[in-house]
Amino acid sequence: MELSALVSQLSRVGKTASKRLAYLGVNIVKDLLYYFPFRYEDYRTMVPISQLQHGQMVTICGQVQLIANKRSFKRRKIITEALVADKTGAARVVWFNQPFIIKNIHVGDVVYLSGKVQTDMLGPQLASPTYEKYKKDPAHTARLVPIYSLTFGLTQKQIRSLTNQVITLAGQVEEWLPKEILEKADLTPLSDALRGIHFPADDNDLKQSVERLKFDELFLIQLKAELSRLEKSGIKAPKINFKEAEVRSFVSSLPFQLTKTQKISAWEIFQDLEKSAPMSRLLSGDVGSGKTVIAAMAMLNACLNGFRSVFMAPTEILASQHYNSLIKLFGDKFSVGLLTGSQFAIHNYKFEEKSQAGQKKEFFKKIGDGELSIVVGTHALFSEGVEYKKLGLVIVDEQHRFGVEQRKTIKEKGRGVHFLSMTATPIPRSLALVIYGDLDVSIINELPPGRKKIITKLVEPAKRDKAYQFIRDQVKQGRQIFVVCPLIERKEDEAEIEIINYPANPSNEKKSVLSEYEKLSKNIFPDLRVGYLHGKLKGKEKERIMSDFKNGKLDLLVSTSVVEVGVDIPNASVMMIEGAEGFGLAQLHQFRGRVGRSIHQSYCLLFTHSDSVKASERLSFFEKNNDGFKLAEKDLEMRGPGEVYGTEQSGMMNLRIAQLNDRELIKKTRELAKETAVDLEKYPVLNKKMKDWEKSVHLE
Ligand code: ADP
Ligand code: MG
Repeated sequence: MELSALVSQLSRVGKTASKRLAYLGVNIVKDLLYYFPFRYEDYRTMVPISQLQHGQMVTICGQVQLIANKRSFKRRKIITEALVADKTGAARVVWFNQPFIIKNIHVGDVVYLSGKVQTDMLGPQLASPTYEKYKKDPAHTARLVPIYSLTFGLTQKQIRSLTNQVITLAGQVEEWLPKEILEKADLTPLSDALRGIHFPADDNDLKQSVERLKFDELFLIQLKAELSRLEKSGIKAPKINFKEAEVRSFVSSLPFQLTKTQKISAWEIFQDLEKSAPMSRLLSGDVGSGKTVIAAMAMLNACLNGFRSVFMAPTEILASQHYNSLIKLFGDKFSVGLLTGSQFAIHNYKFEEKSQAGQKKEFFKKIGDGELSIVVGTHALFSEGVEYKKLGLVIVDEQHRFGVEQRKTIKEKGRGVHFLSMTATPIPRSLALVIYGDLDVSIINELPPGRKKIITKLVEPAKRDKAYQFIRDQVKQGRQIFVVCPLIERKEDEAEIEIINYPANPSNEKKSVLSEYEKLSKNIFPDLRVGYLHGKLKGKEKERIMSDFKNGKLDLLVSTSVVEVGVDIPNASVMMIEGAEGFGLAQLHQFRGRVGRSIHQSYCLLFTHSDSVKASERLSFFEKNNDGFKLAEKDLEMRGPGEVYGTEQSGMMNLRIAQLNDRELIKKTRELAKETAVDLEKYPVLNKKMKDWEKSVHLE
């Protein structure tokens, strides 16, 4: 068997199972080795049956004396009962609703049983223990047992057995870290680490394996960052001087005072612009923290120095929103243009040409001649073969929303000019250092004073009708409502399965929006104007629906997470979220940020079907906290960075195992990456690994 063999070639993997594995990103044998457990069950304590004590987590080893299925009258459940004996005594064992067990274990078999002991008058009993026939190297019992994230229809045992089947192939995985680094960082060989992460021999083996695999992830990210820094180091950008008097006068003309961190961020940007090395900065600030005005100040400064700016947003609606904001801020001080896939305009300018085509030509000529100080738009800004004259500054809002190809273009066009990227995803500084190793980061971590707090409520299922009544009242008062649906449709009988890292499945996403739309528009609010939005709709269609909603032609908008980003619908006052447990806190926070953008008191209503403790802990934390940074930290702690920051955003997407609180390791990898990057050519294996990795993570 080869590492590159498809998992469907393994024994007991059929079509269905391989499809499910593919959901988890496991397609080939090597993926299995890299599908790491997220925790371990400690079943190492072997106890003779006579010494079993109530409440202990133990493993016993004994011979099956009896085993049979029985039907319980009341619950119509099937109970499997067994009696297992060793030299010291016998214990009763029960399993619920797993009648197939009698096909796997027979009288006379010697088995391991791992689980919790319960004693009653009849003596000790194990309820629903994990079982495994006796063998020298057990995988499911009598050891530190790996527990994996699952998806529907897969079990721990299945994944564990498969991993166990291929674990010896870990020896074939190529060691790509140079010897020097292995020695300097005192790391375990890769093949040992891959073995140890799944089936650790002991605590120390586990610790070293984890350390090695964390190192790998962080090191690649840091190395990549170091390489892009090196690549950029020779490139120059025009110096843009800080025009203090004019900037001050602009700031004092604003109807508000800048917050402290807005001021600091602006200052950091002005400092960068004055250098001849291009600025490469990320401005991170919660929804509504006032990033646009900071972008405007940077563009103002560029304009005053005679340079042109480009301001790009991921959707047409956002682009026109920014266009209008800038016109409000600058009036007629500078000529501002708008360019998206479907529209172009120049503020307060009358085109000489009559025809649409003629005007478009005229528009492009003005850009080419450098007559527009600022052009706002979507990726059309760069994809139409537009040439910019005297371009000094490129600002991109929510860059991670752009596709891979688009980000590549942005990067190319952004070469040799100052570059500012903005994001509303709150990023703790520790994380920013890892994800954006090659960017400098400014953080606005406060909201302007006096914002109305959005009232957040987790709604019990019994109160759903009341919530609908409340929504109706809000619509009567002229407000509009968002309804966000979960990524996945969850079936009742699957509720018990552990679901973590369940990847989004676009067709389910669509399904759940459509069924919710049906329900709301036909049964609950037949008299209201209800629309729907999901990722599978065409771009134009999406824009049309959003602008209908914005213009008040719809009362309710049922949508997937596509409404997450930056749209401003001041009249919307309720954000209702179905299946809230399926979203990360940072993402829920983005949804919540869609409302509360005007004088109207706004509400965020959460609905959940889950009664898992973890889910309710997260949601009640969300109910009580309005600070995006706090939520992001909590999310990181509970779900890890890949989940929080999405798979498209950065190299972080491949963080399966490293943590942000691994500060020492981050420091160590950073130092070693710096040393290594300057003569990477000396290490051909590492060099190749780096290239493969870049391909696999689609870094921009
Ligand atoms: P975001 O960071 O989400 O892009 P915006 O830039 O859209 O936020 O700002 C949200 C609103 O807050 C805008 O109406 C803006 O004019 C206003 N705003 C920005 N800074 C301040 C401030 N310091 N005080 C009061 N309002 C502000
Ligand atoms: Mg914004």
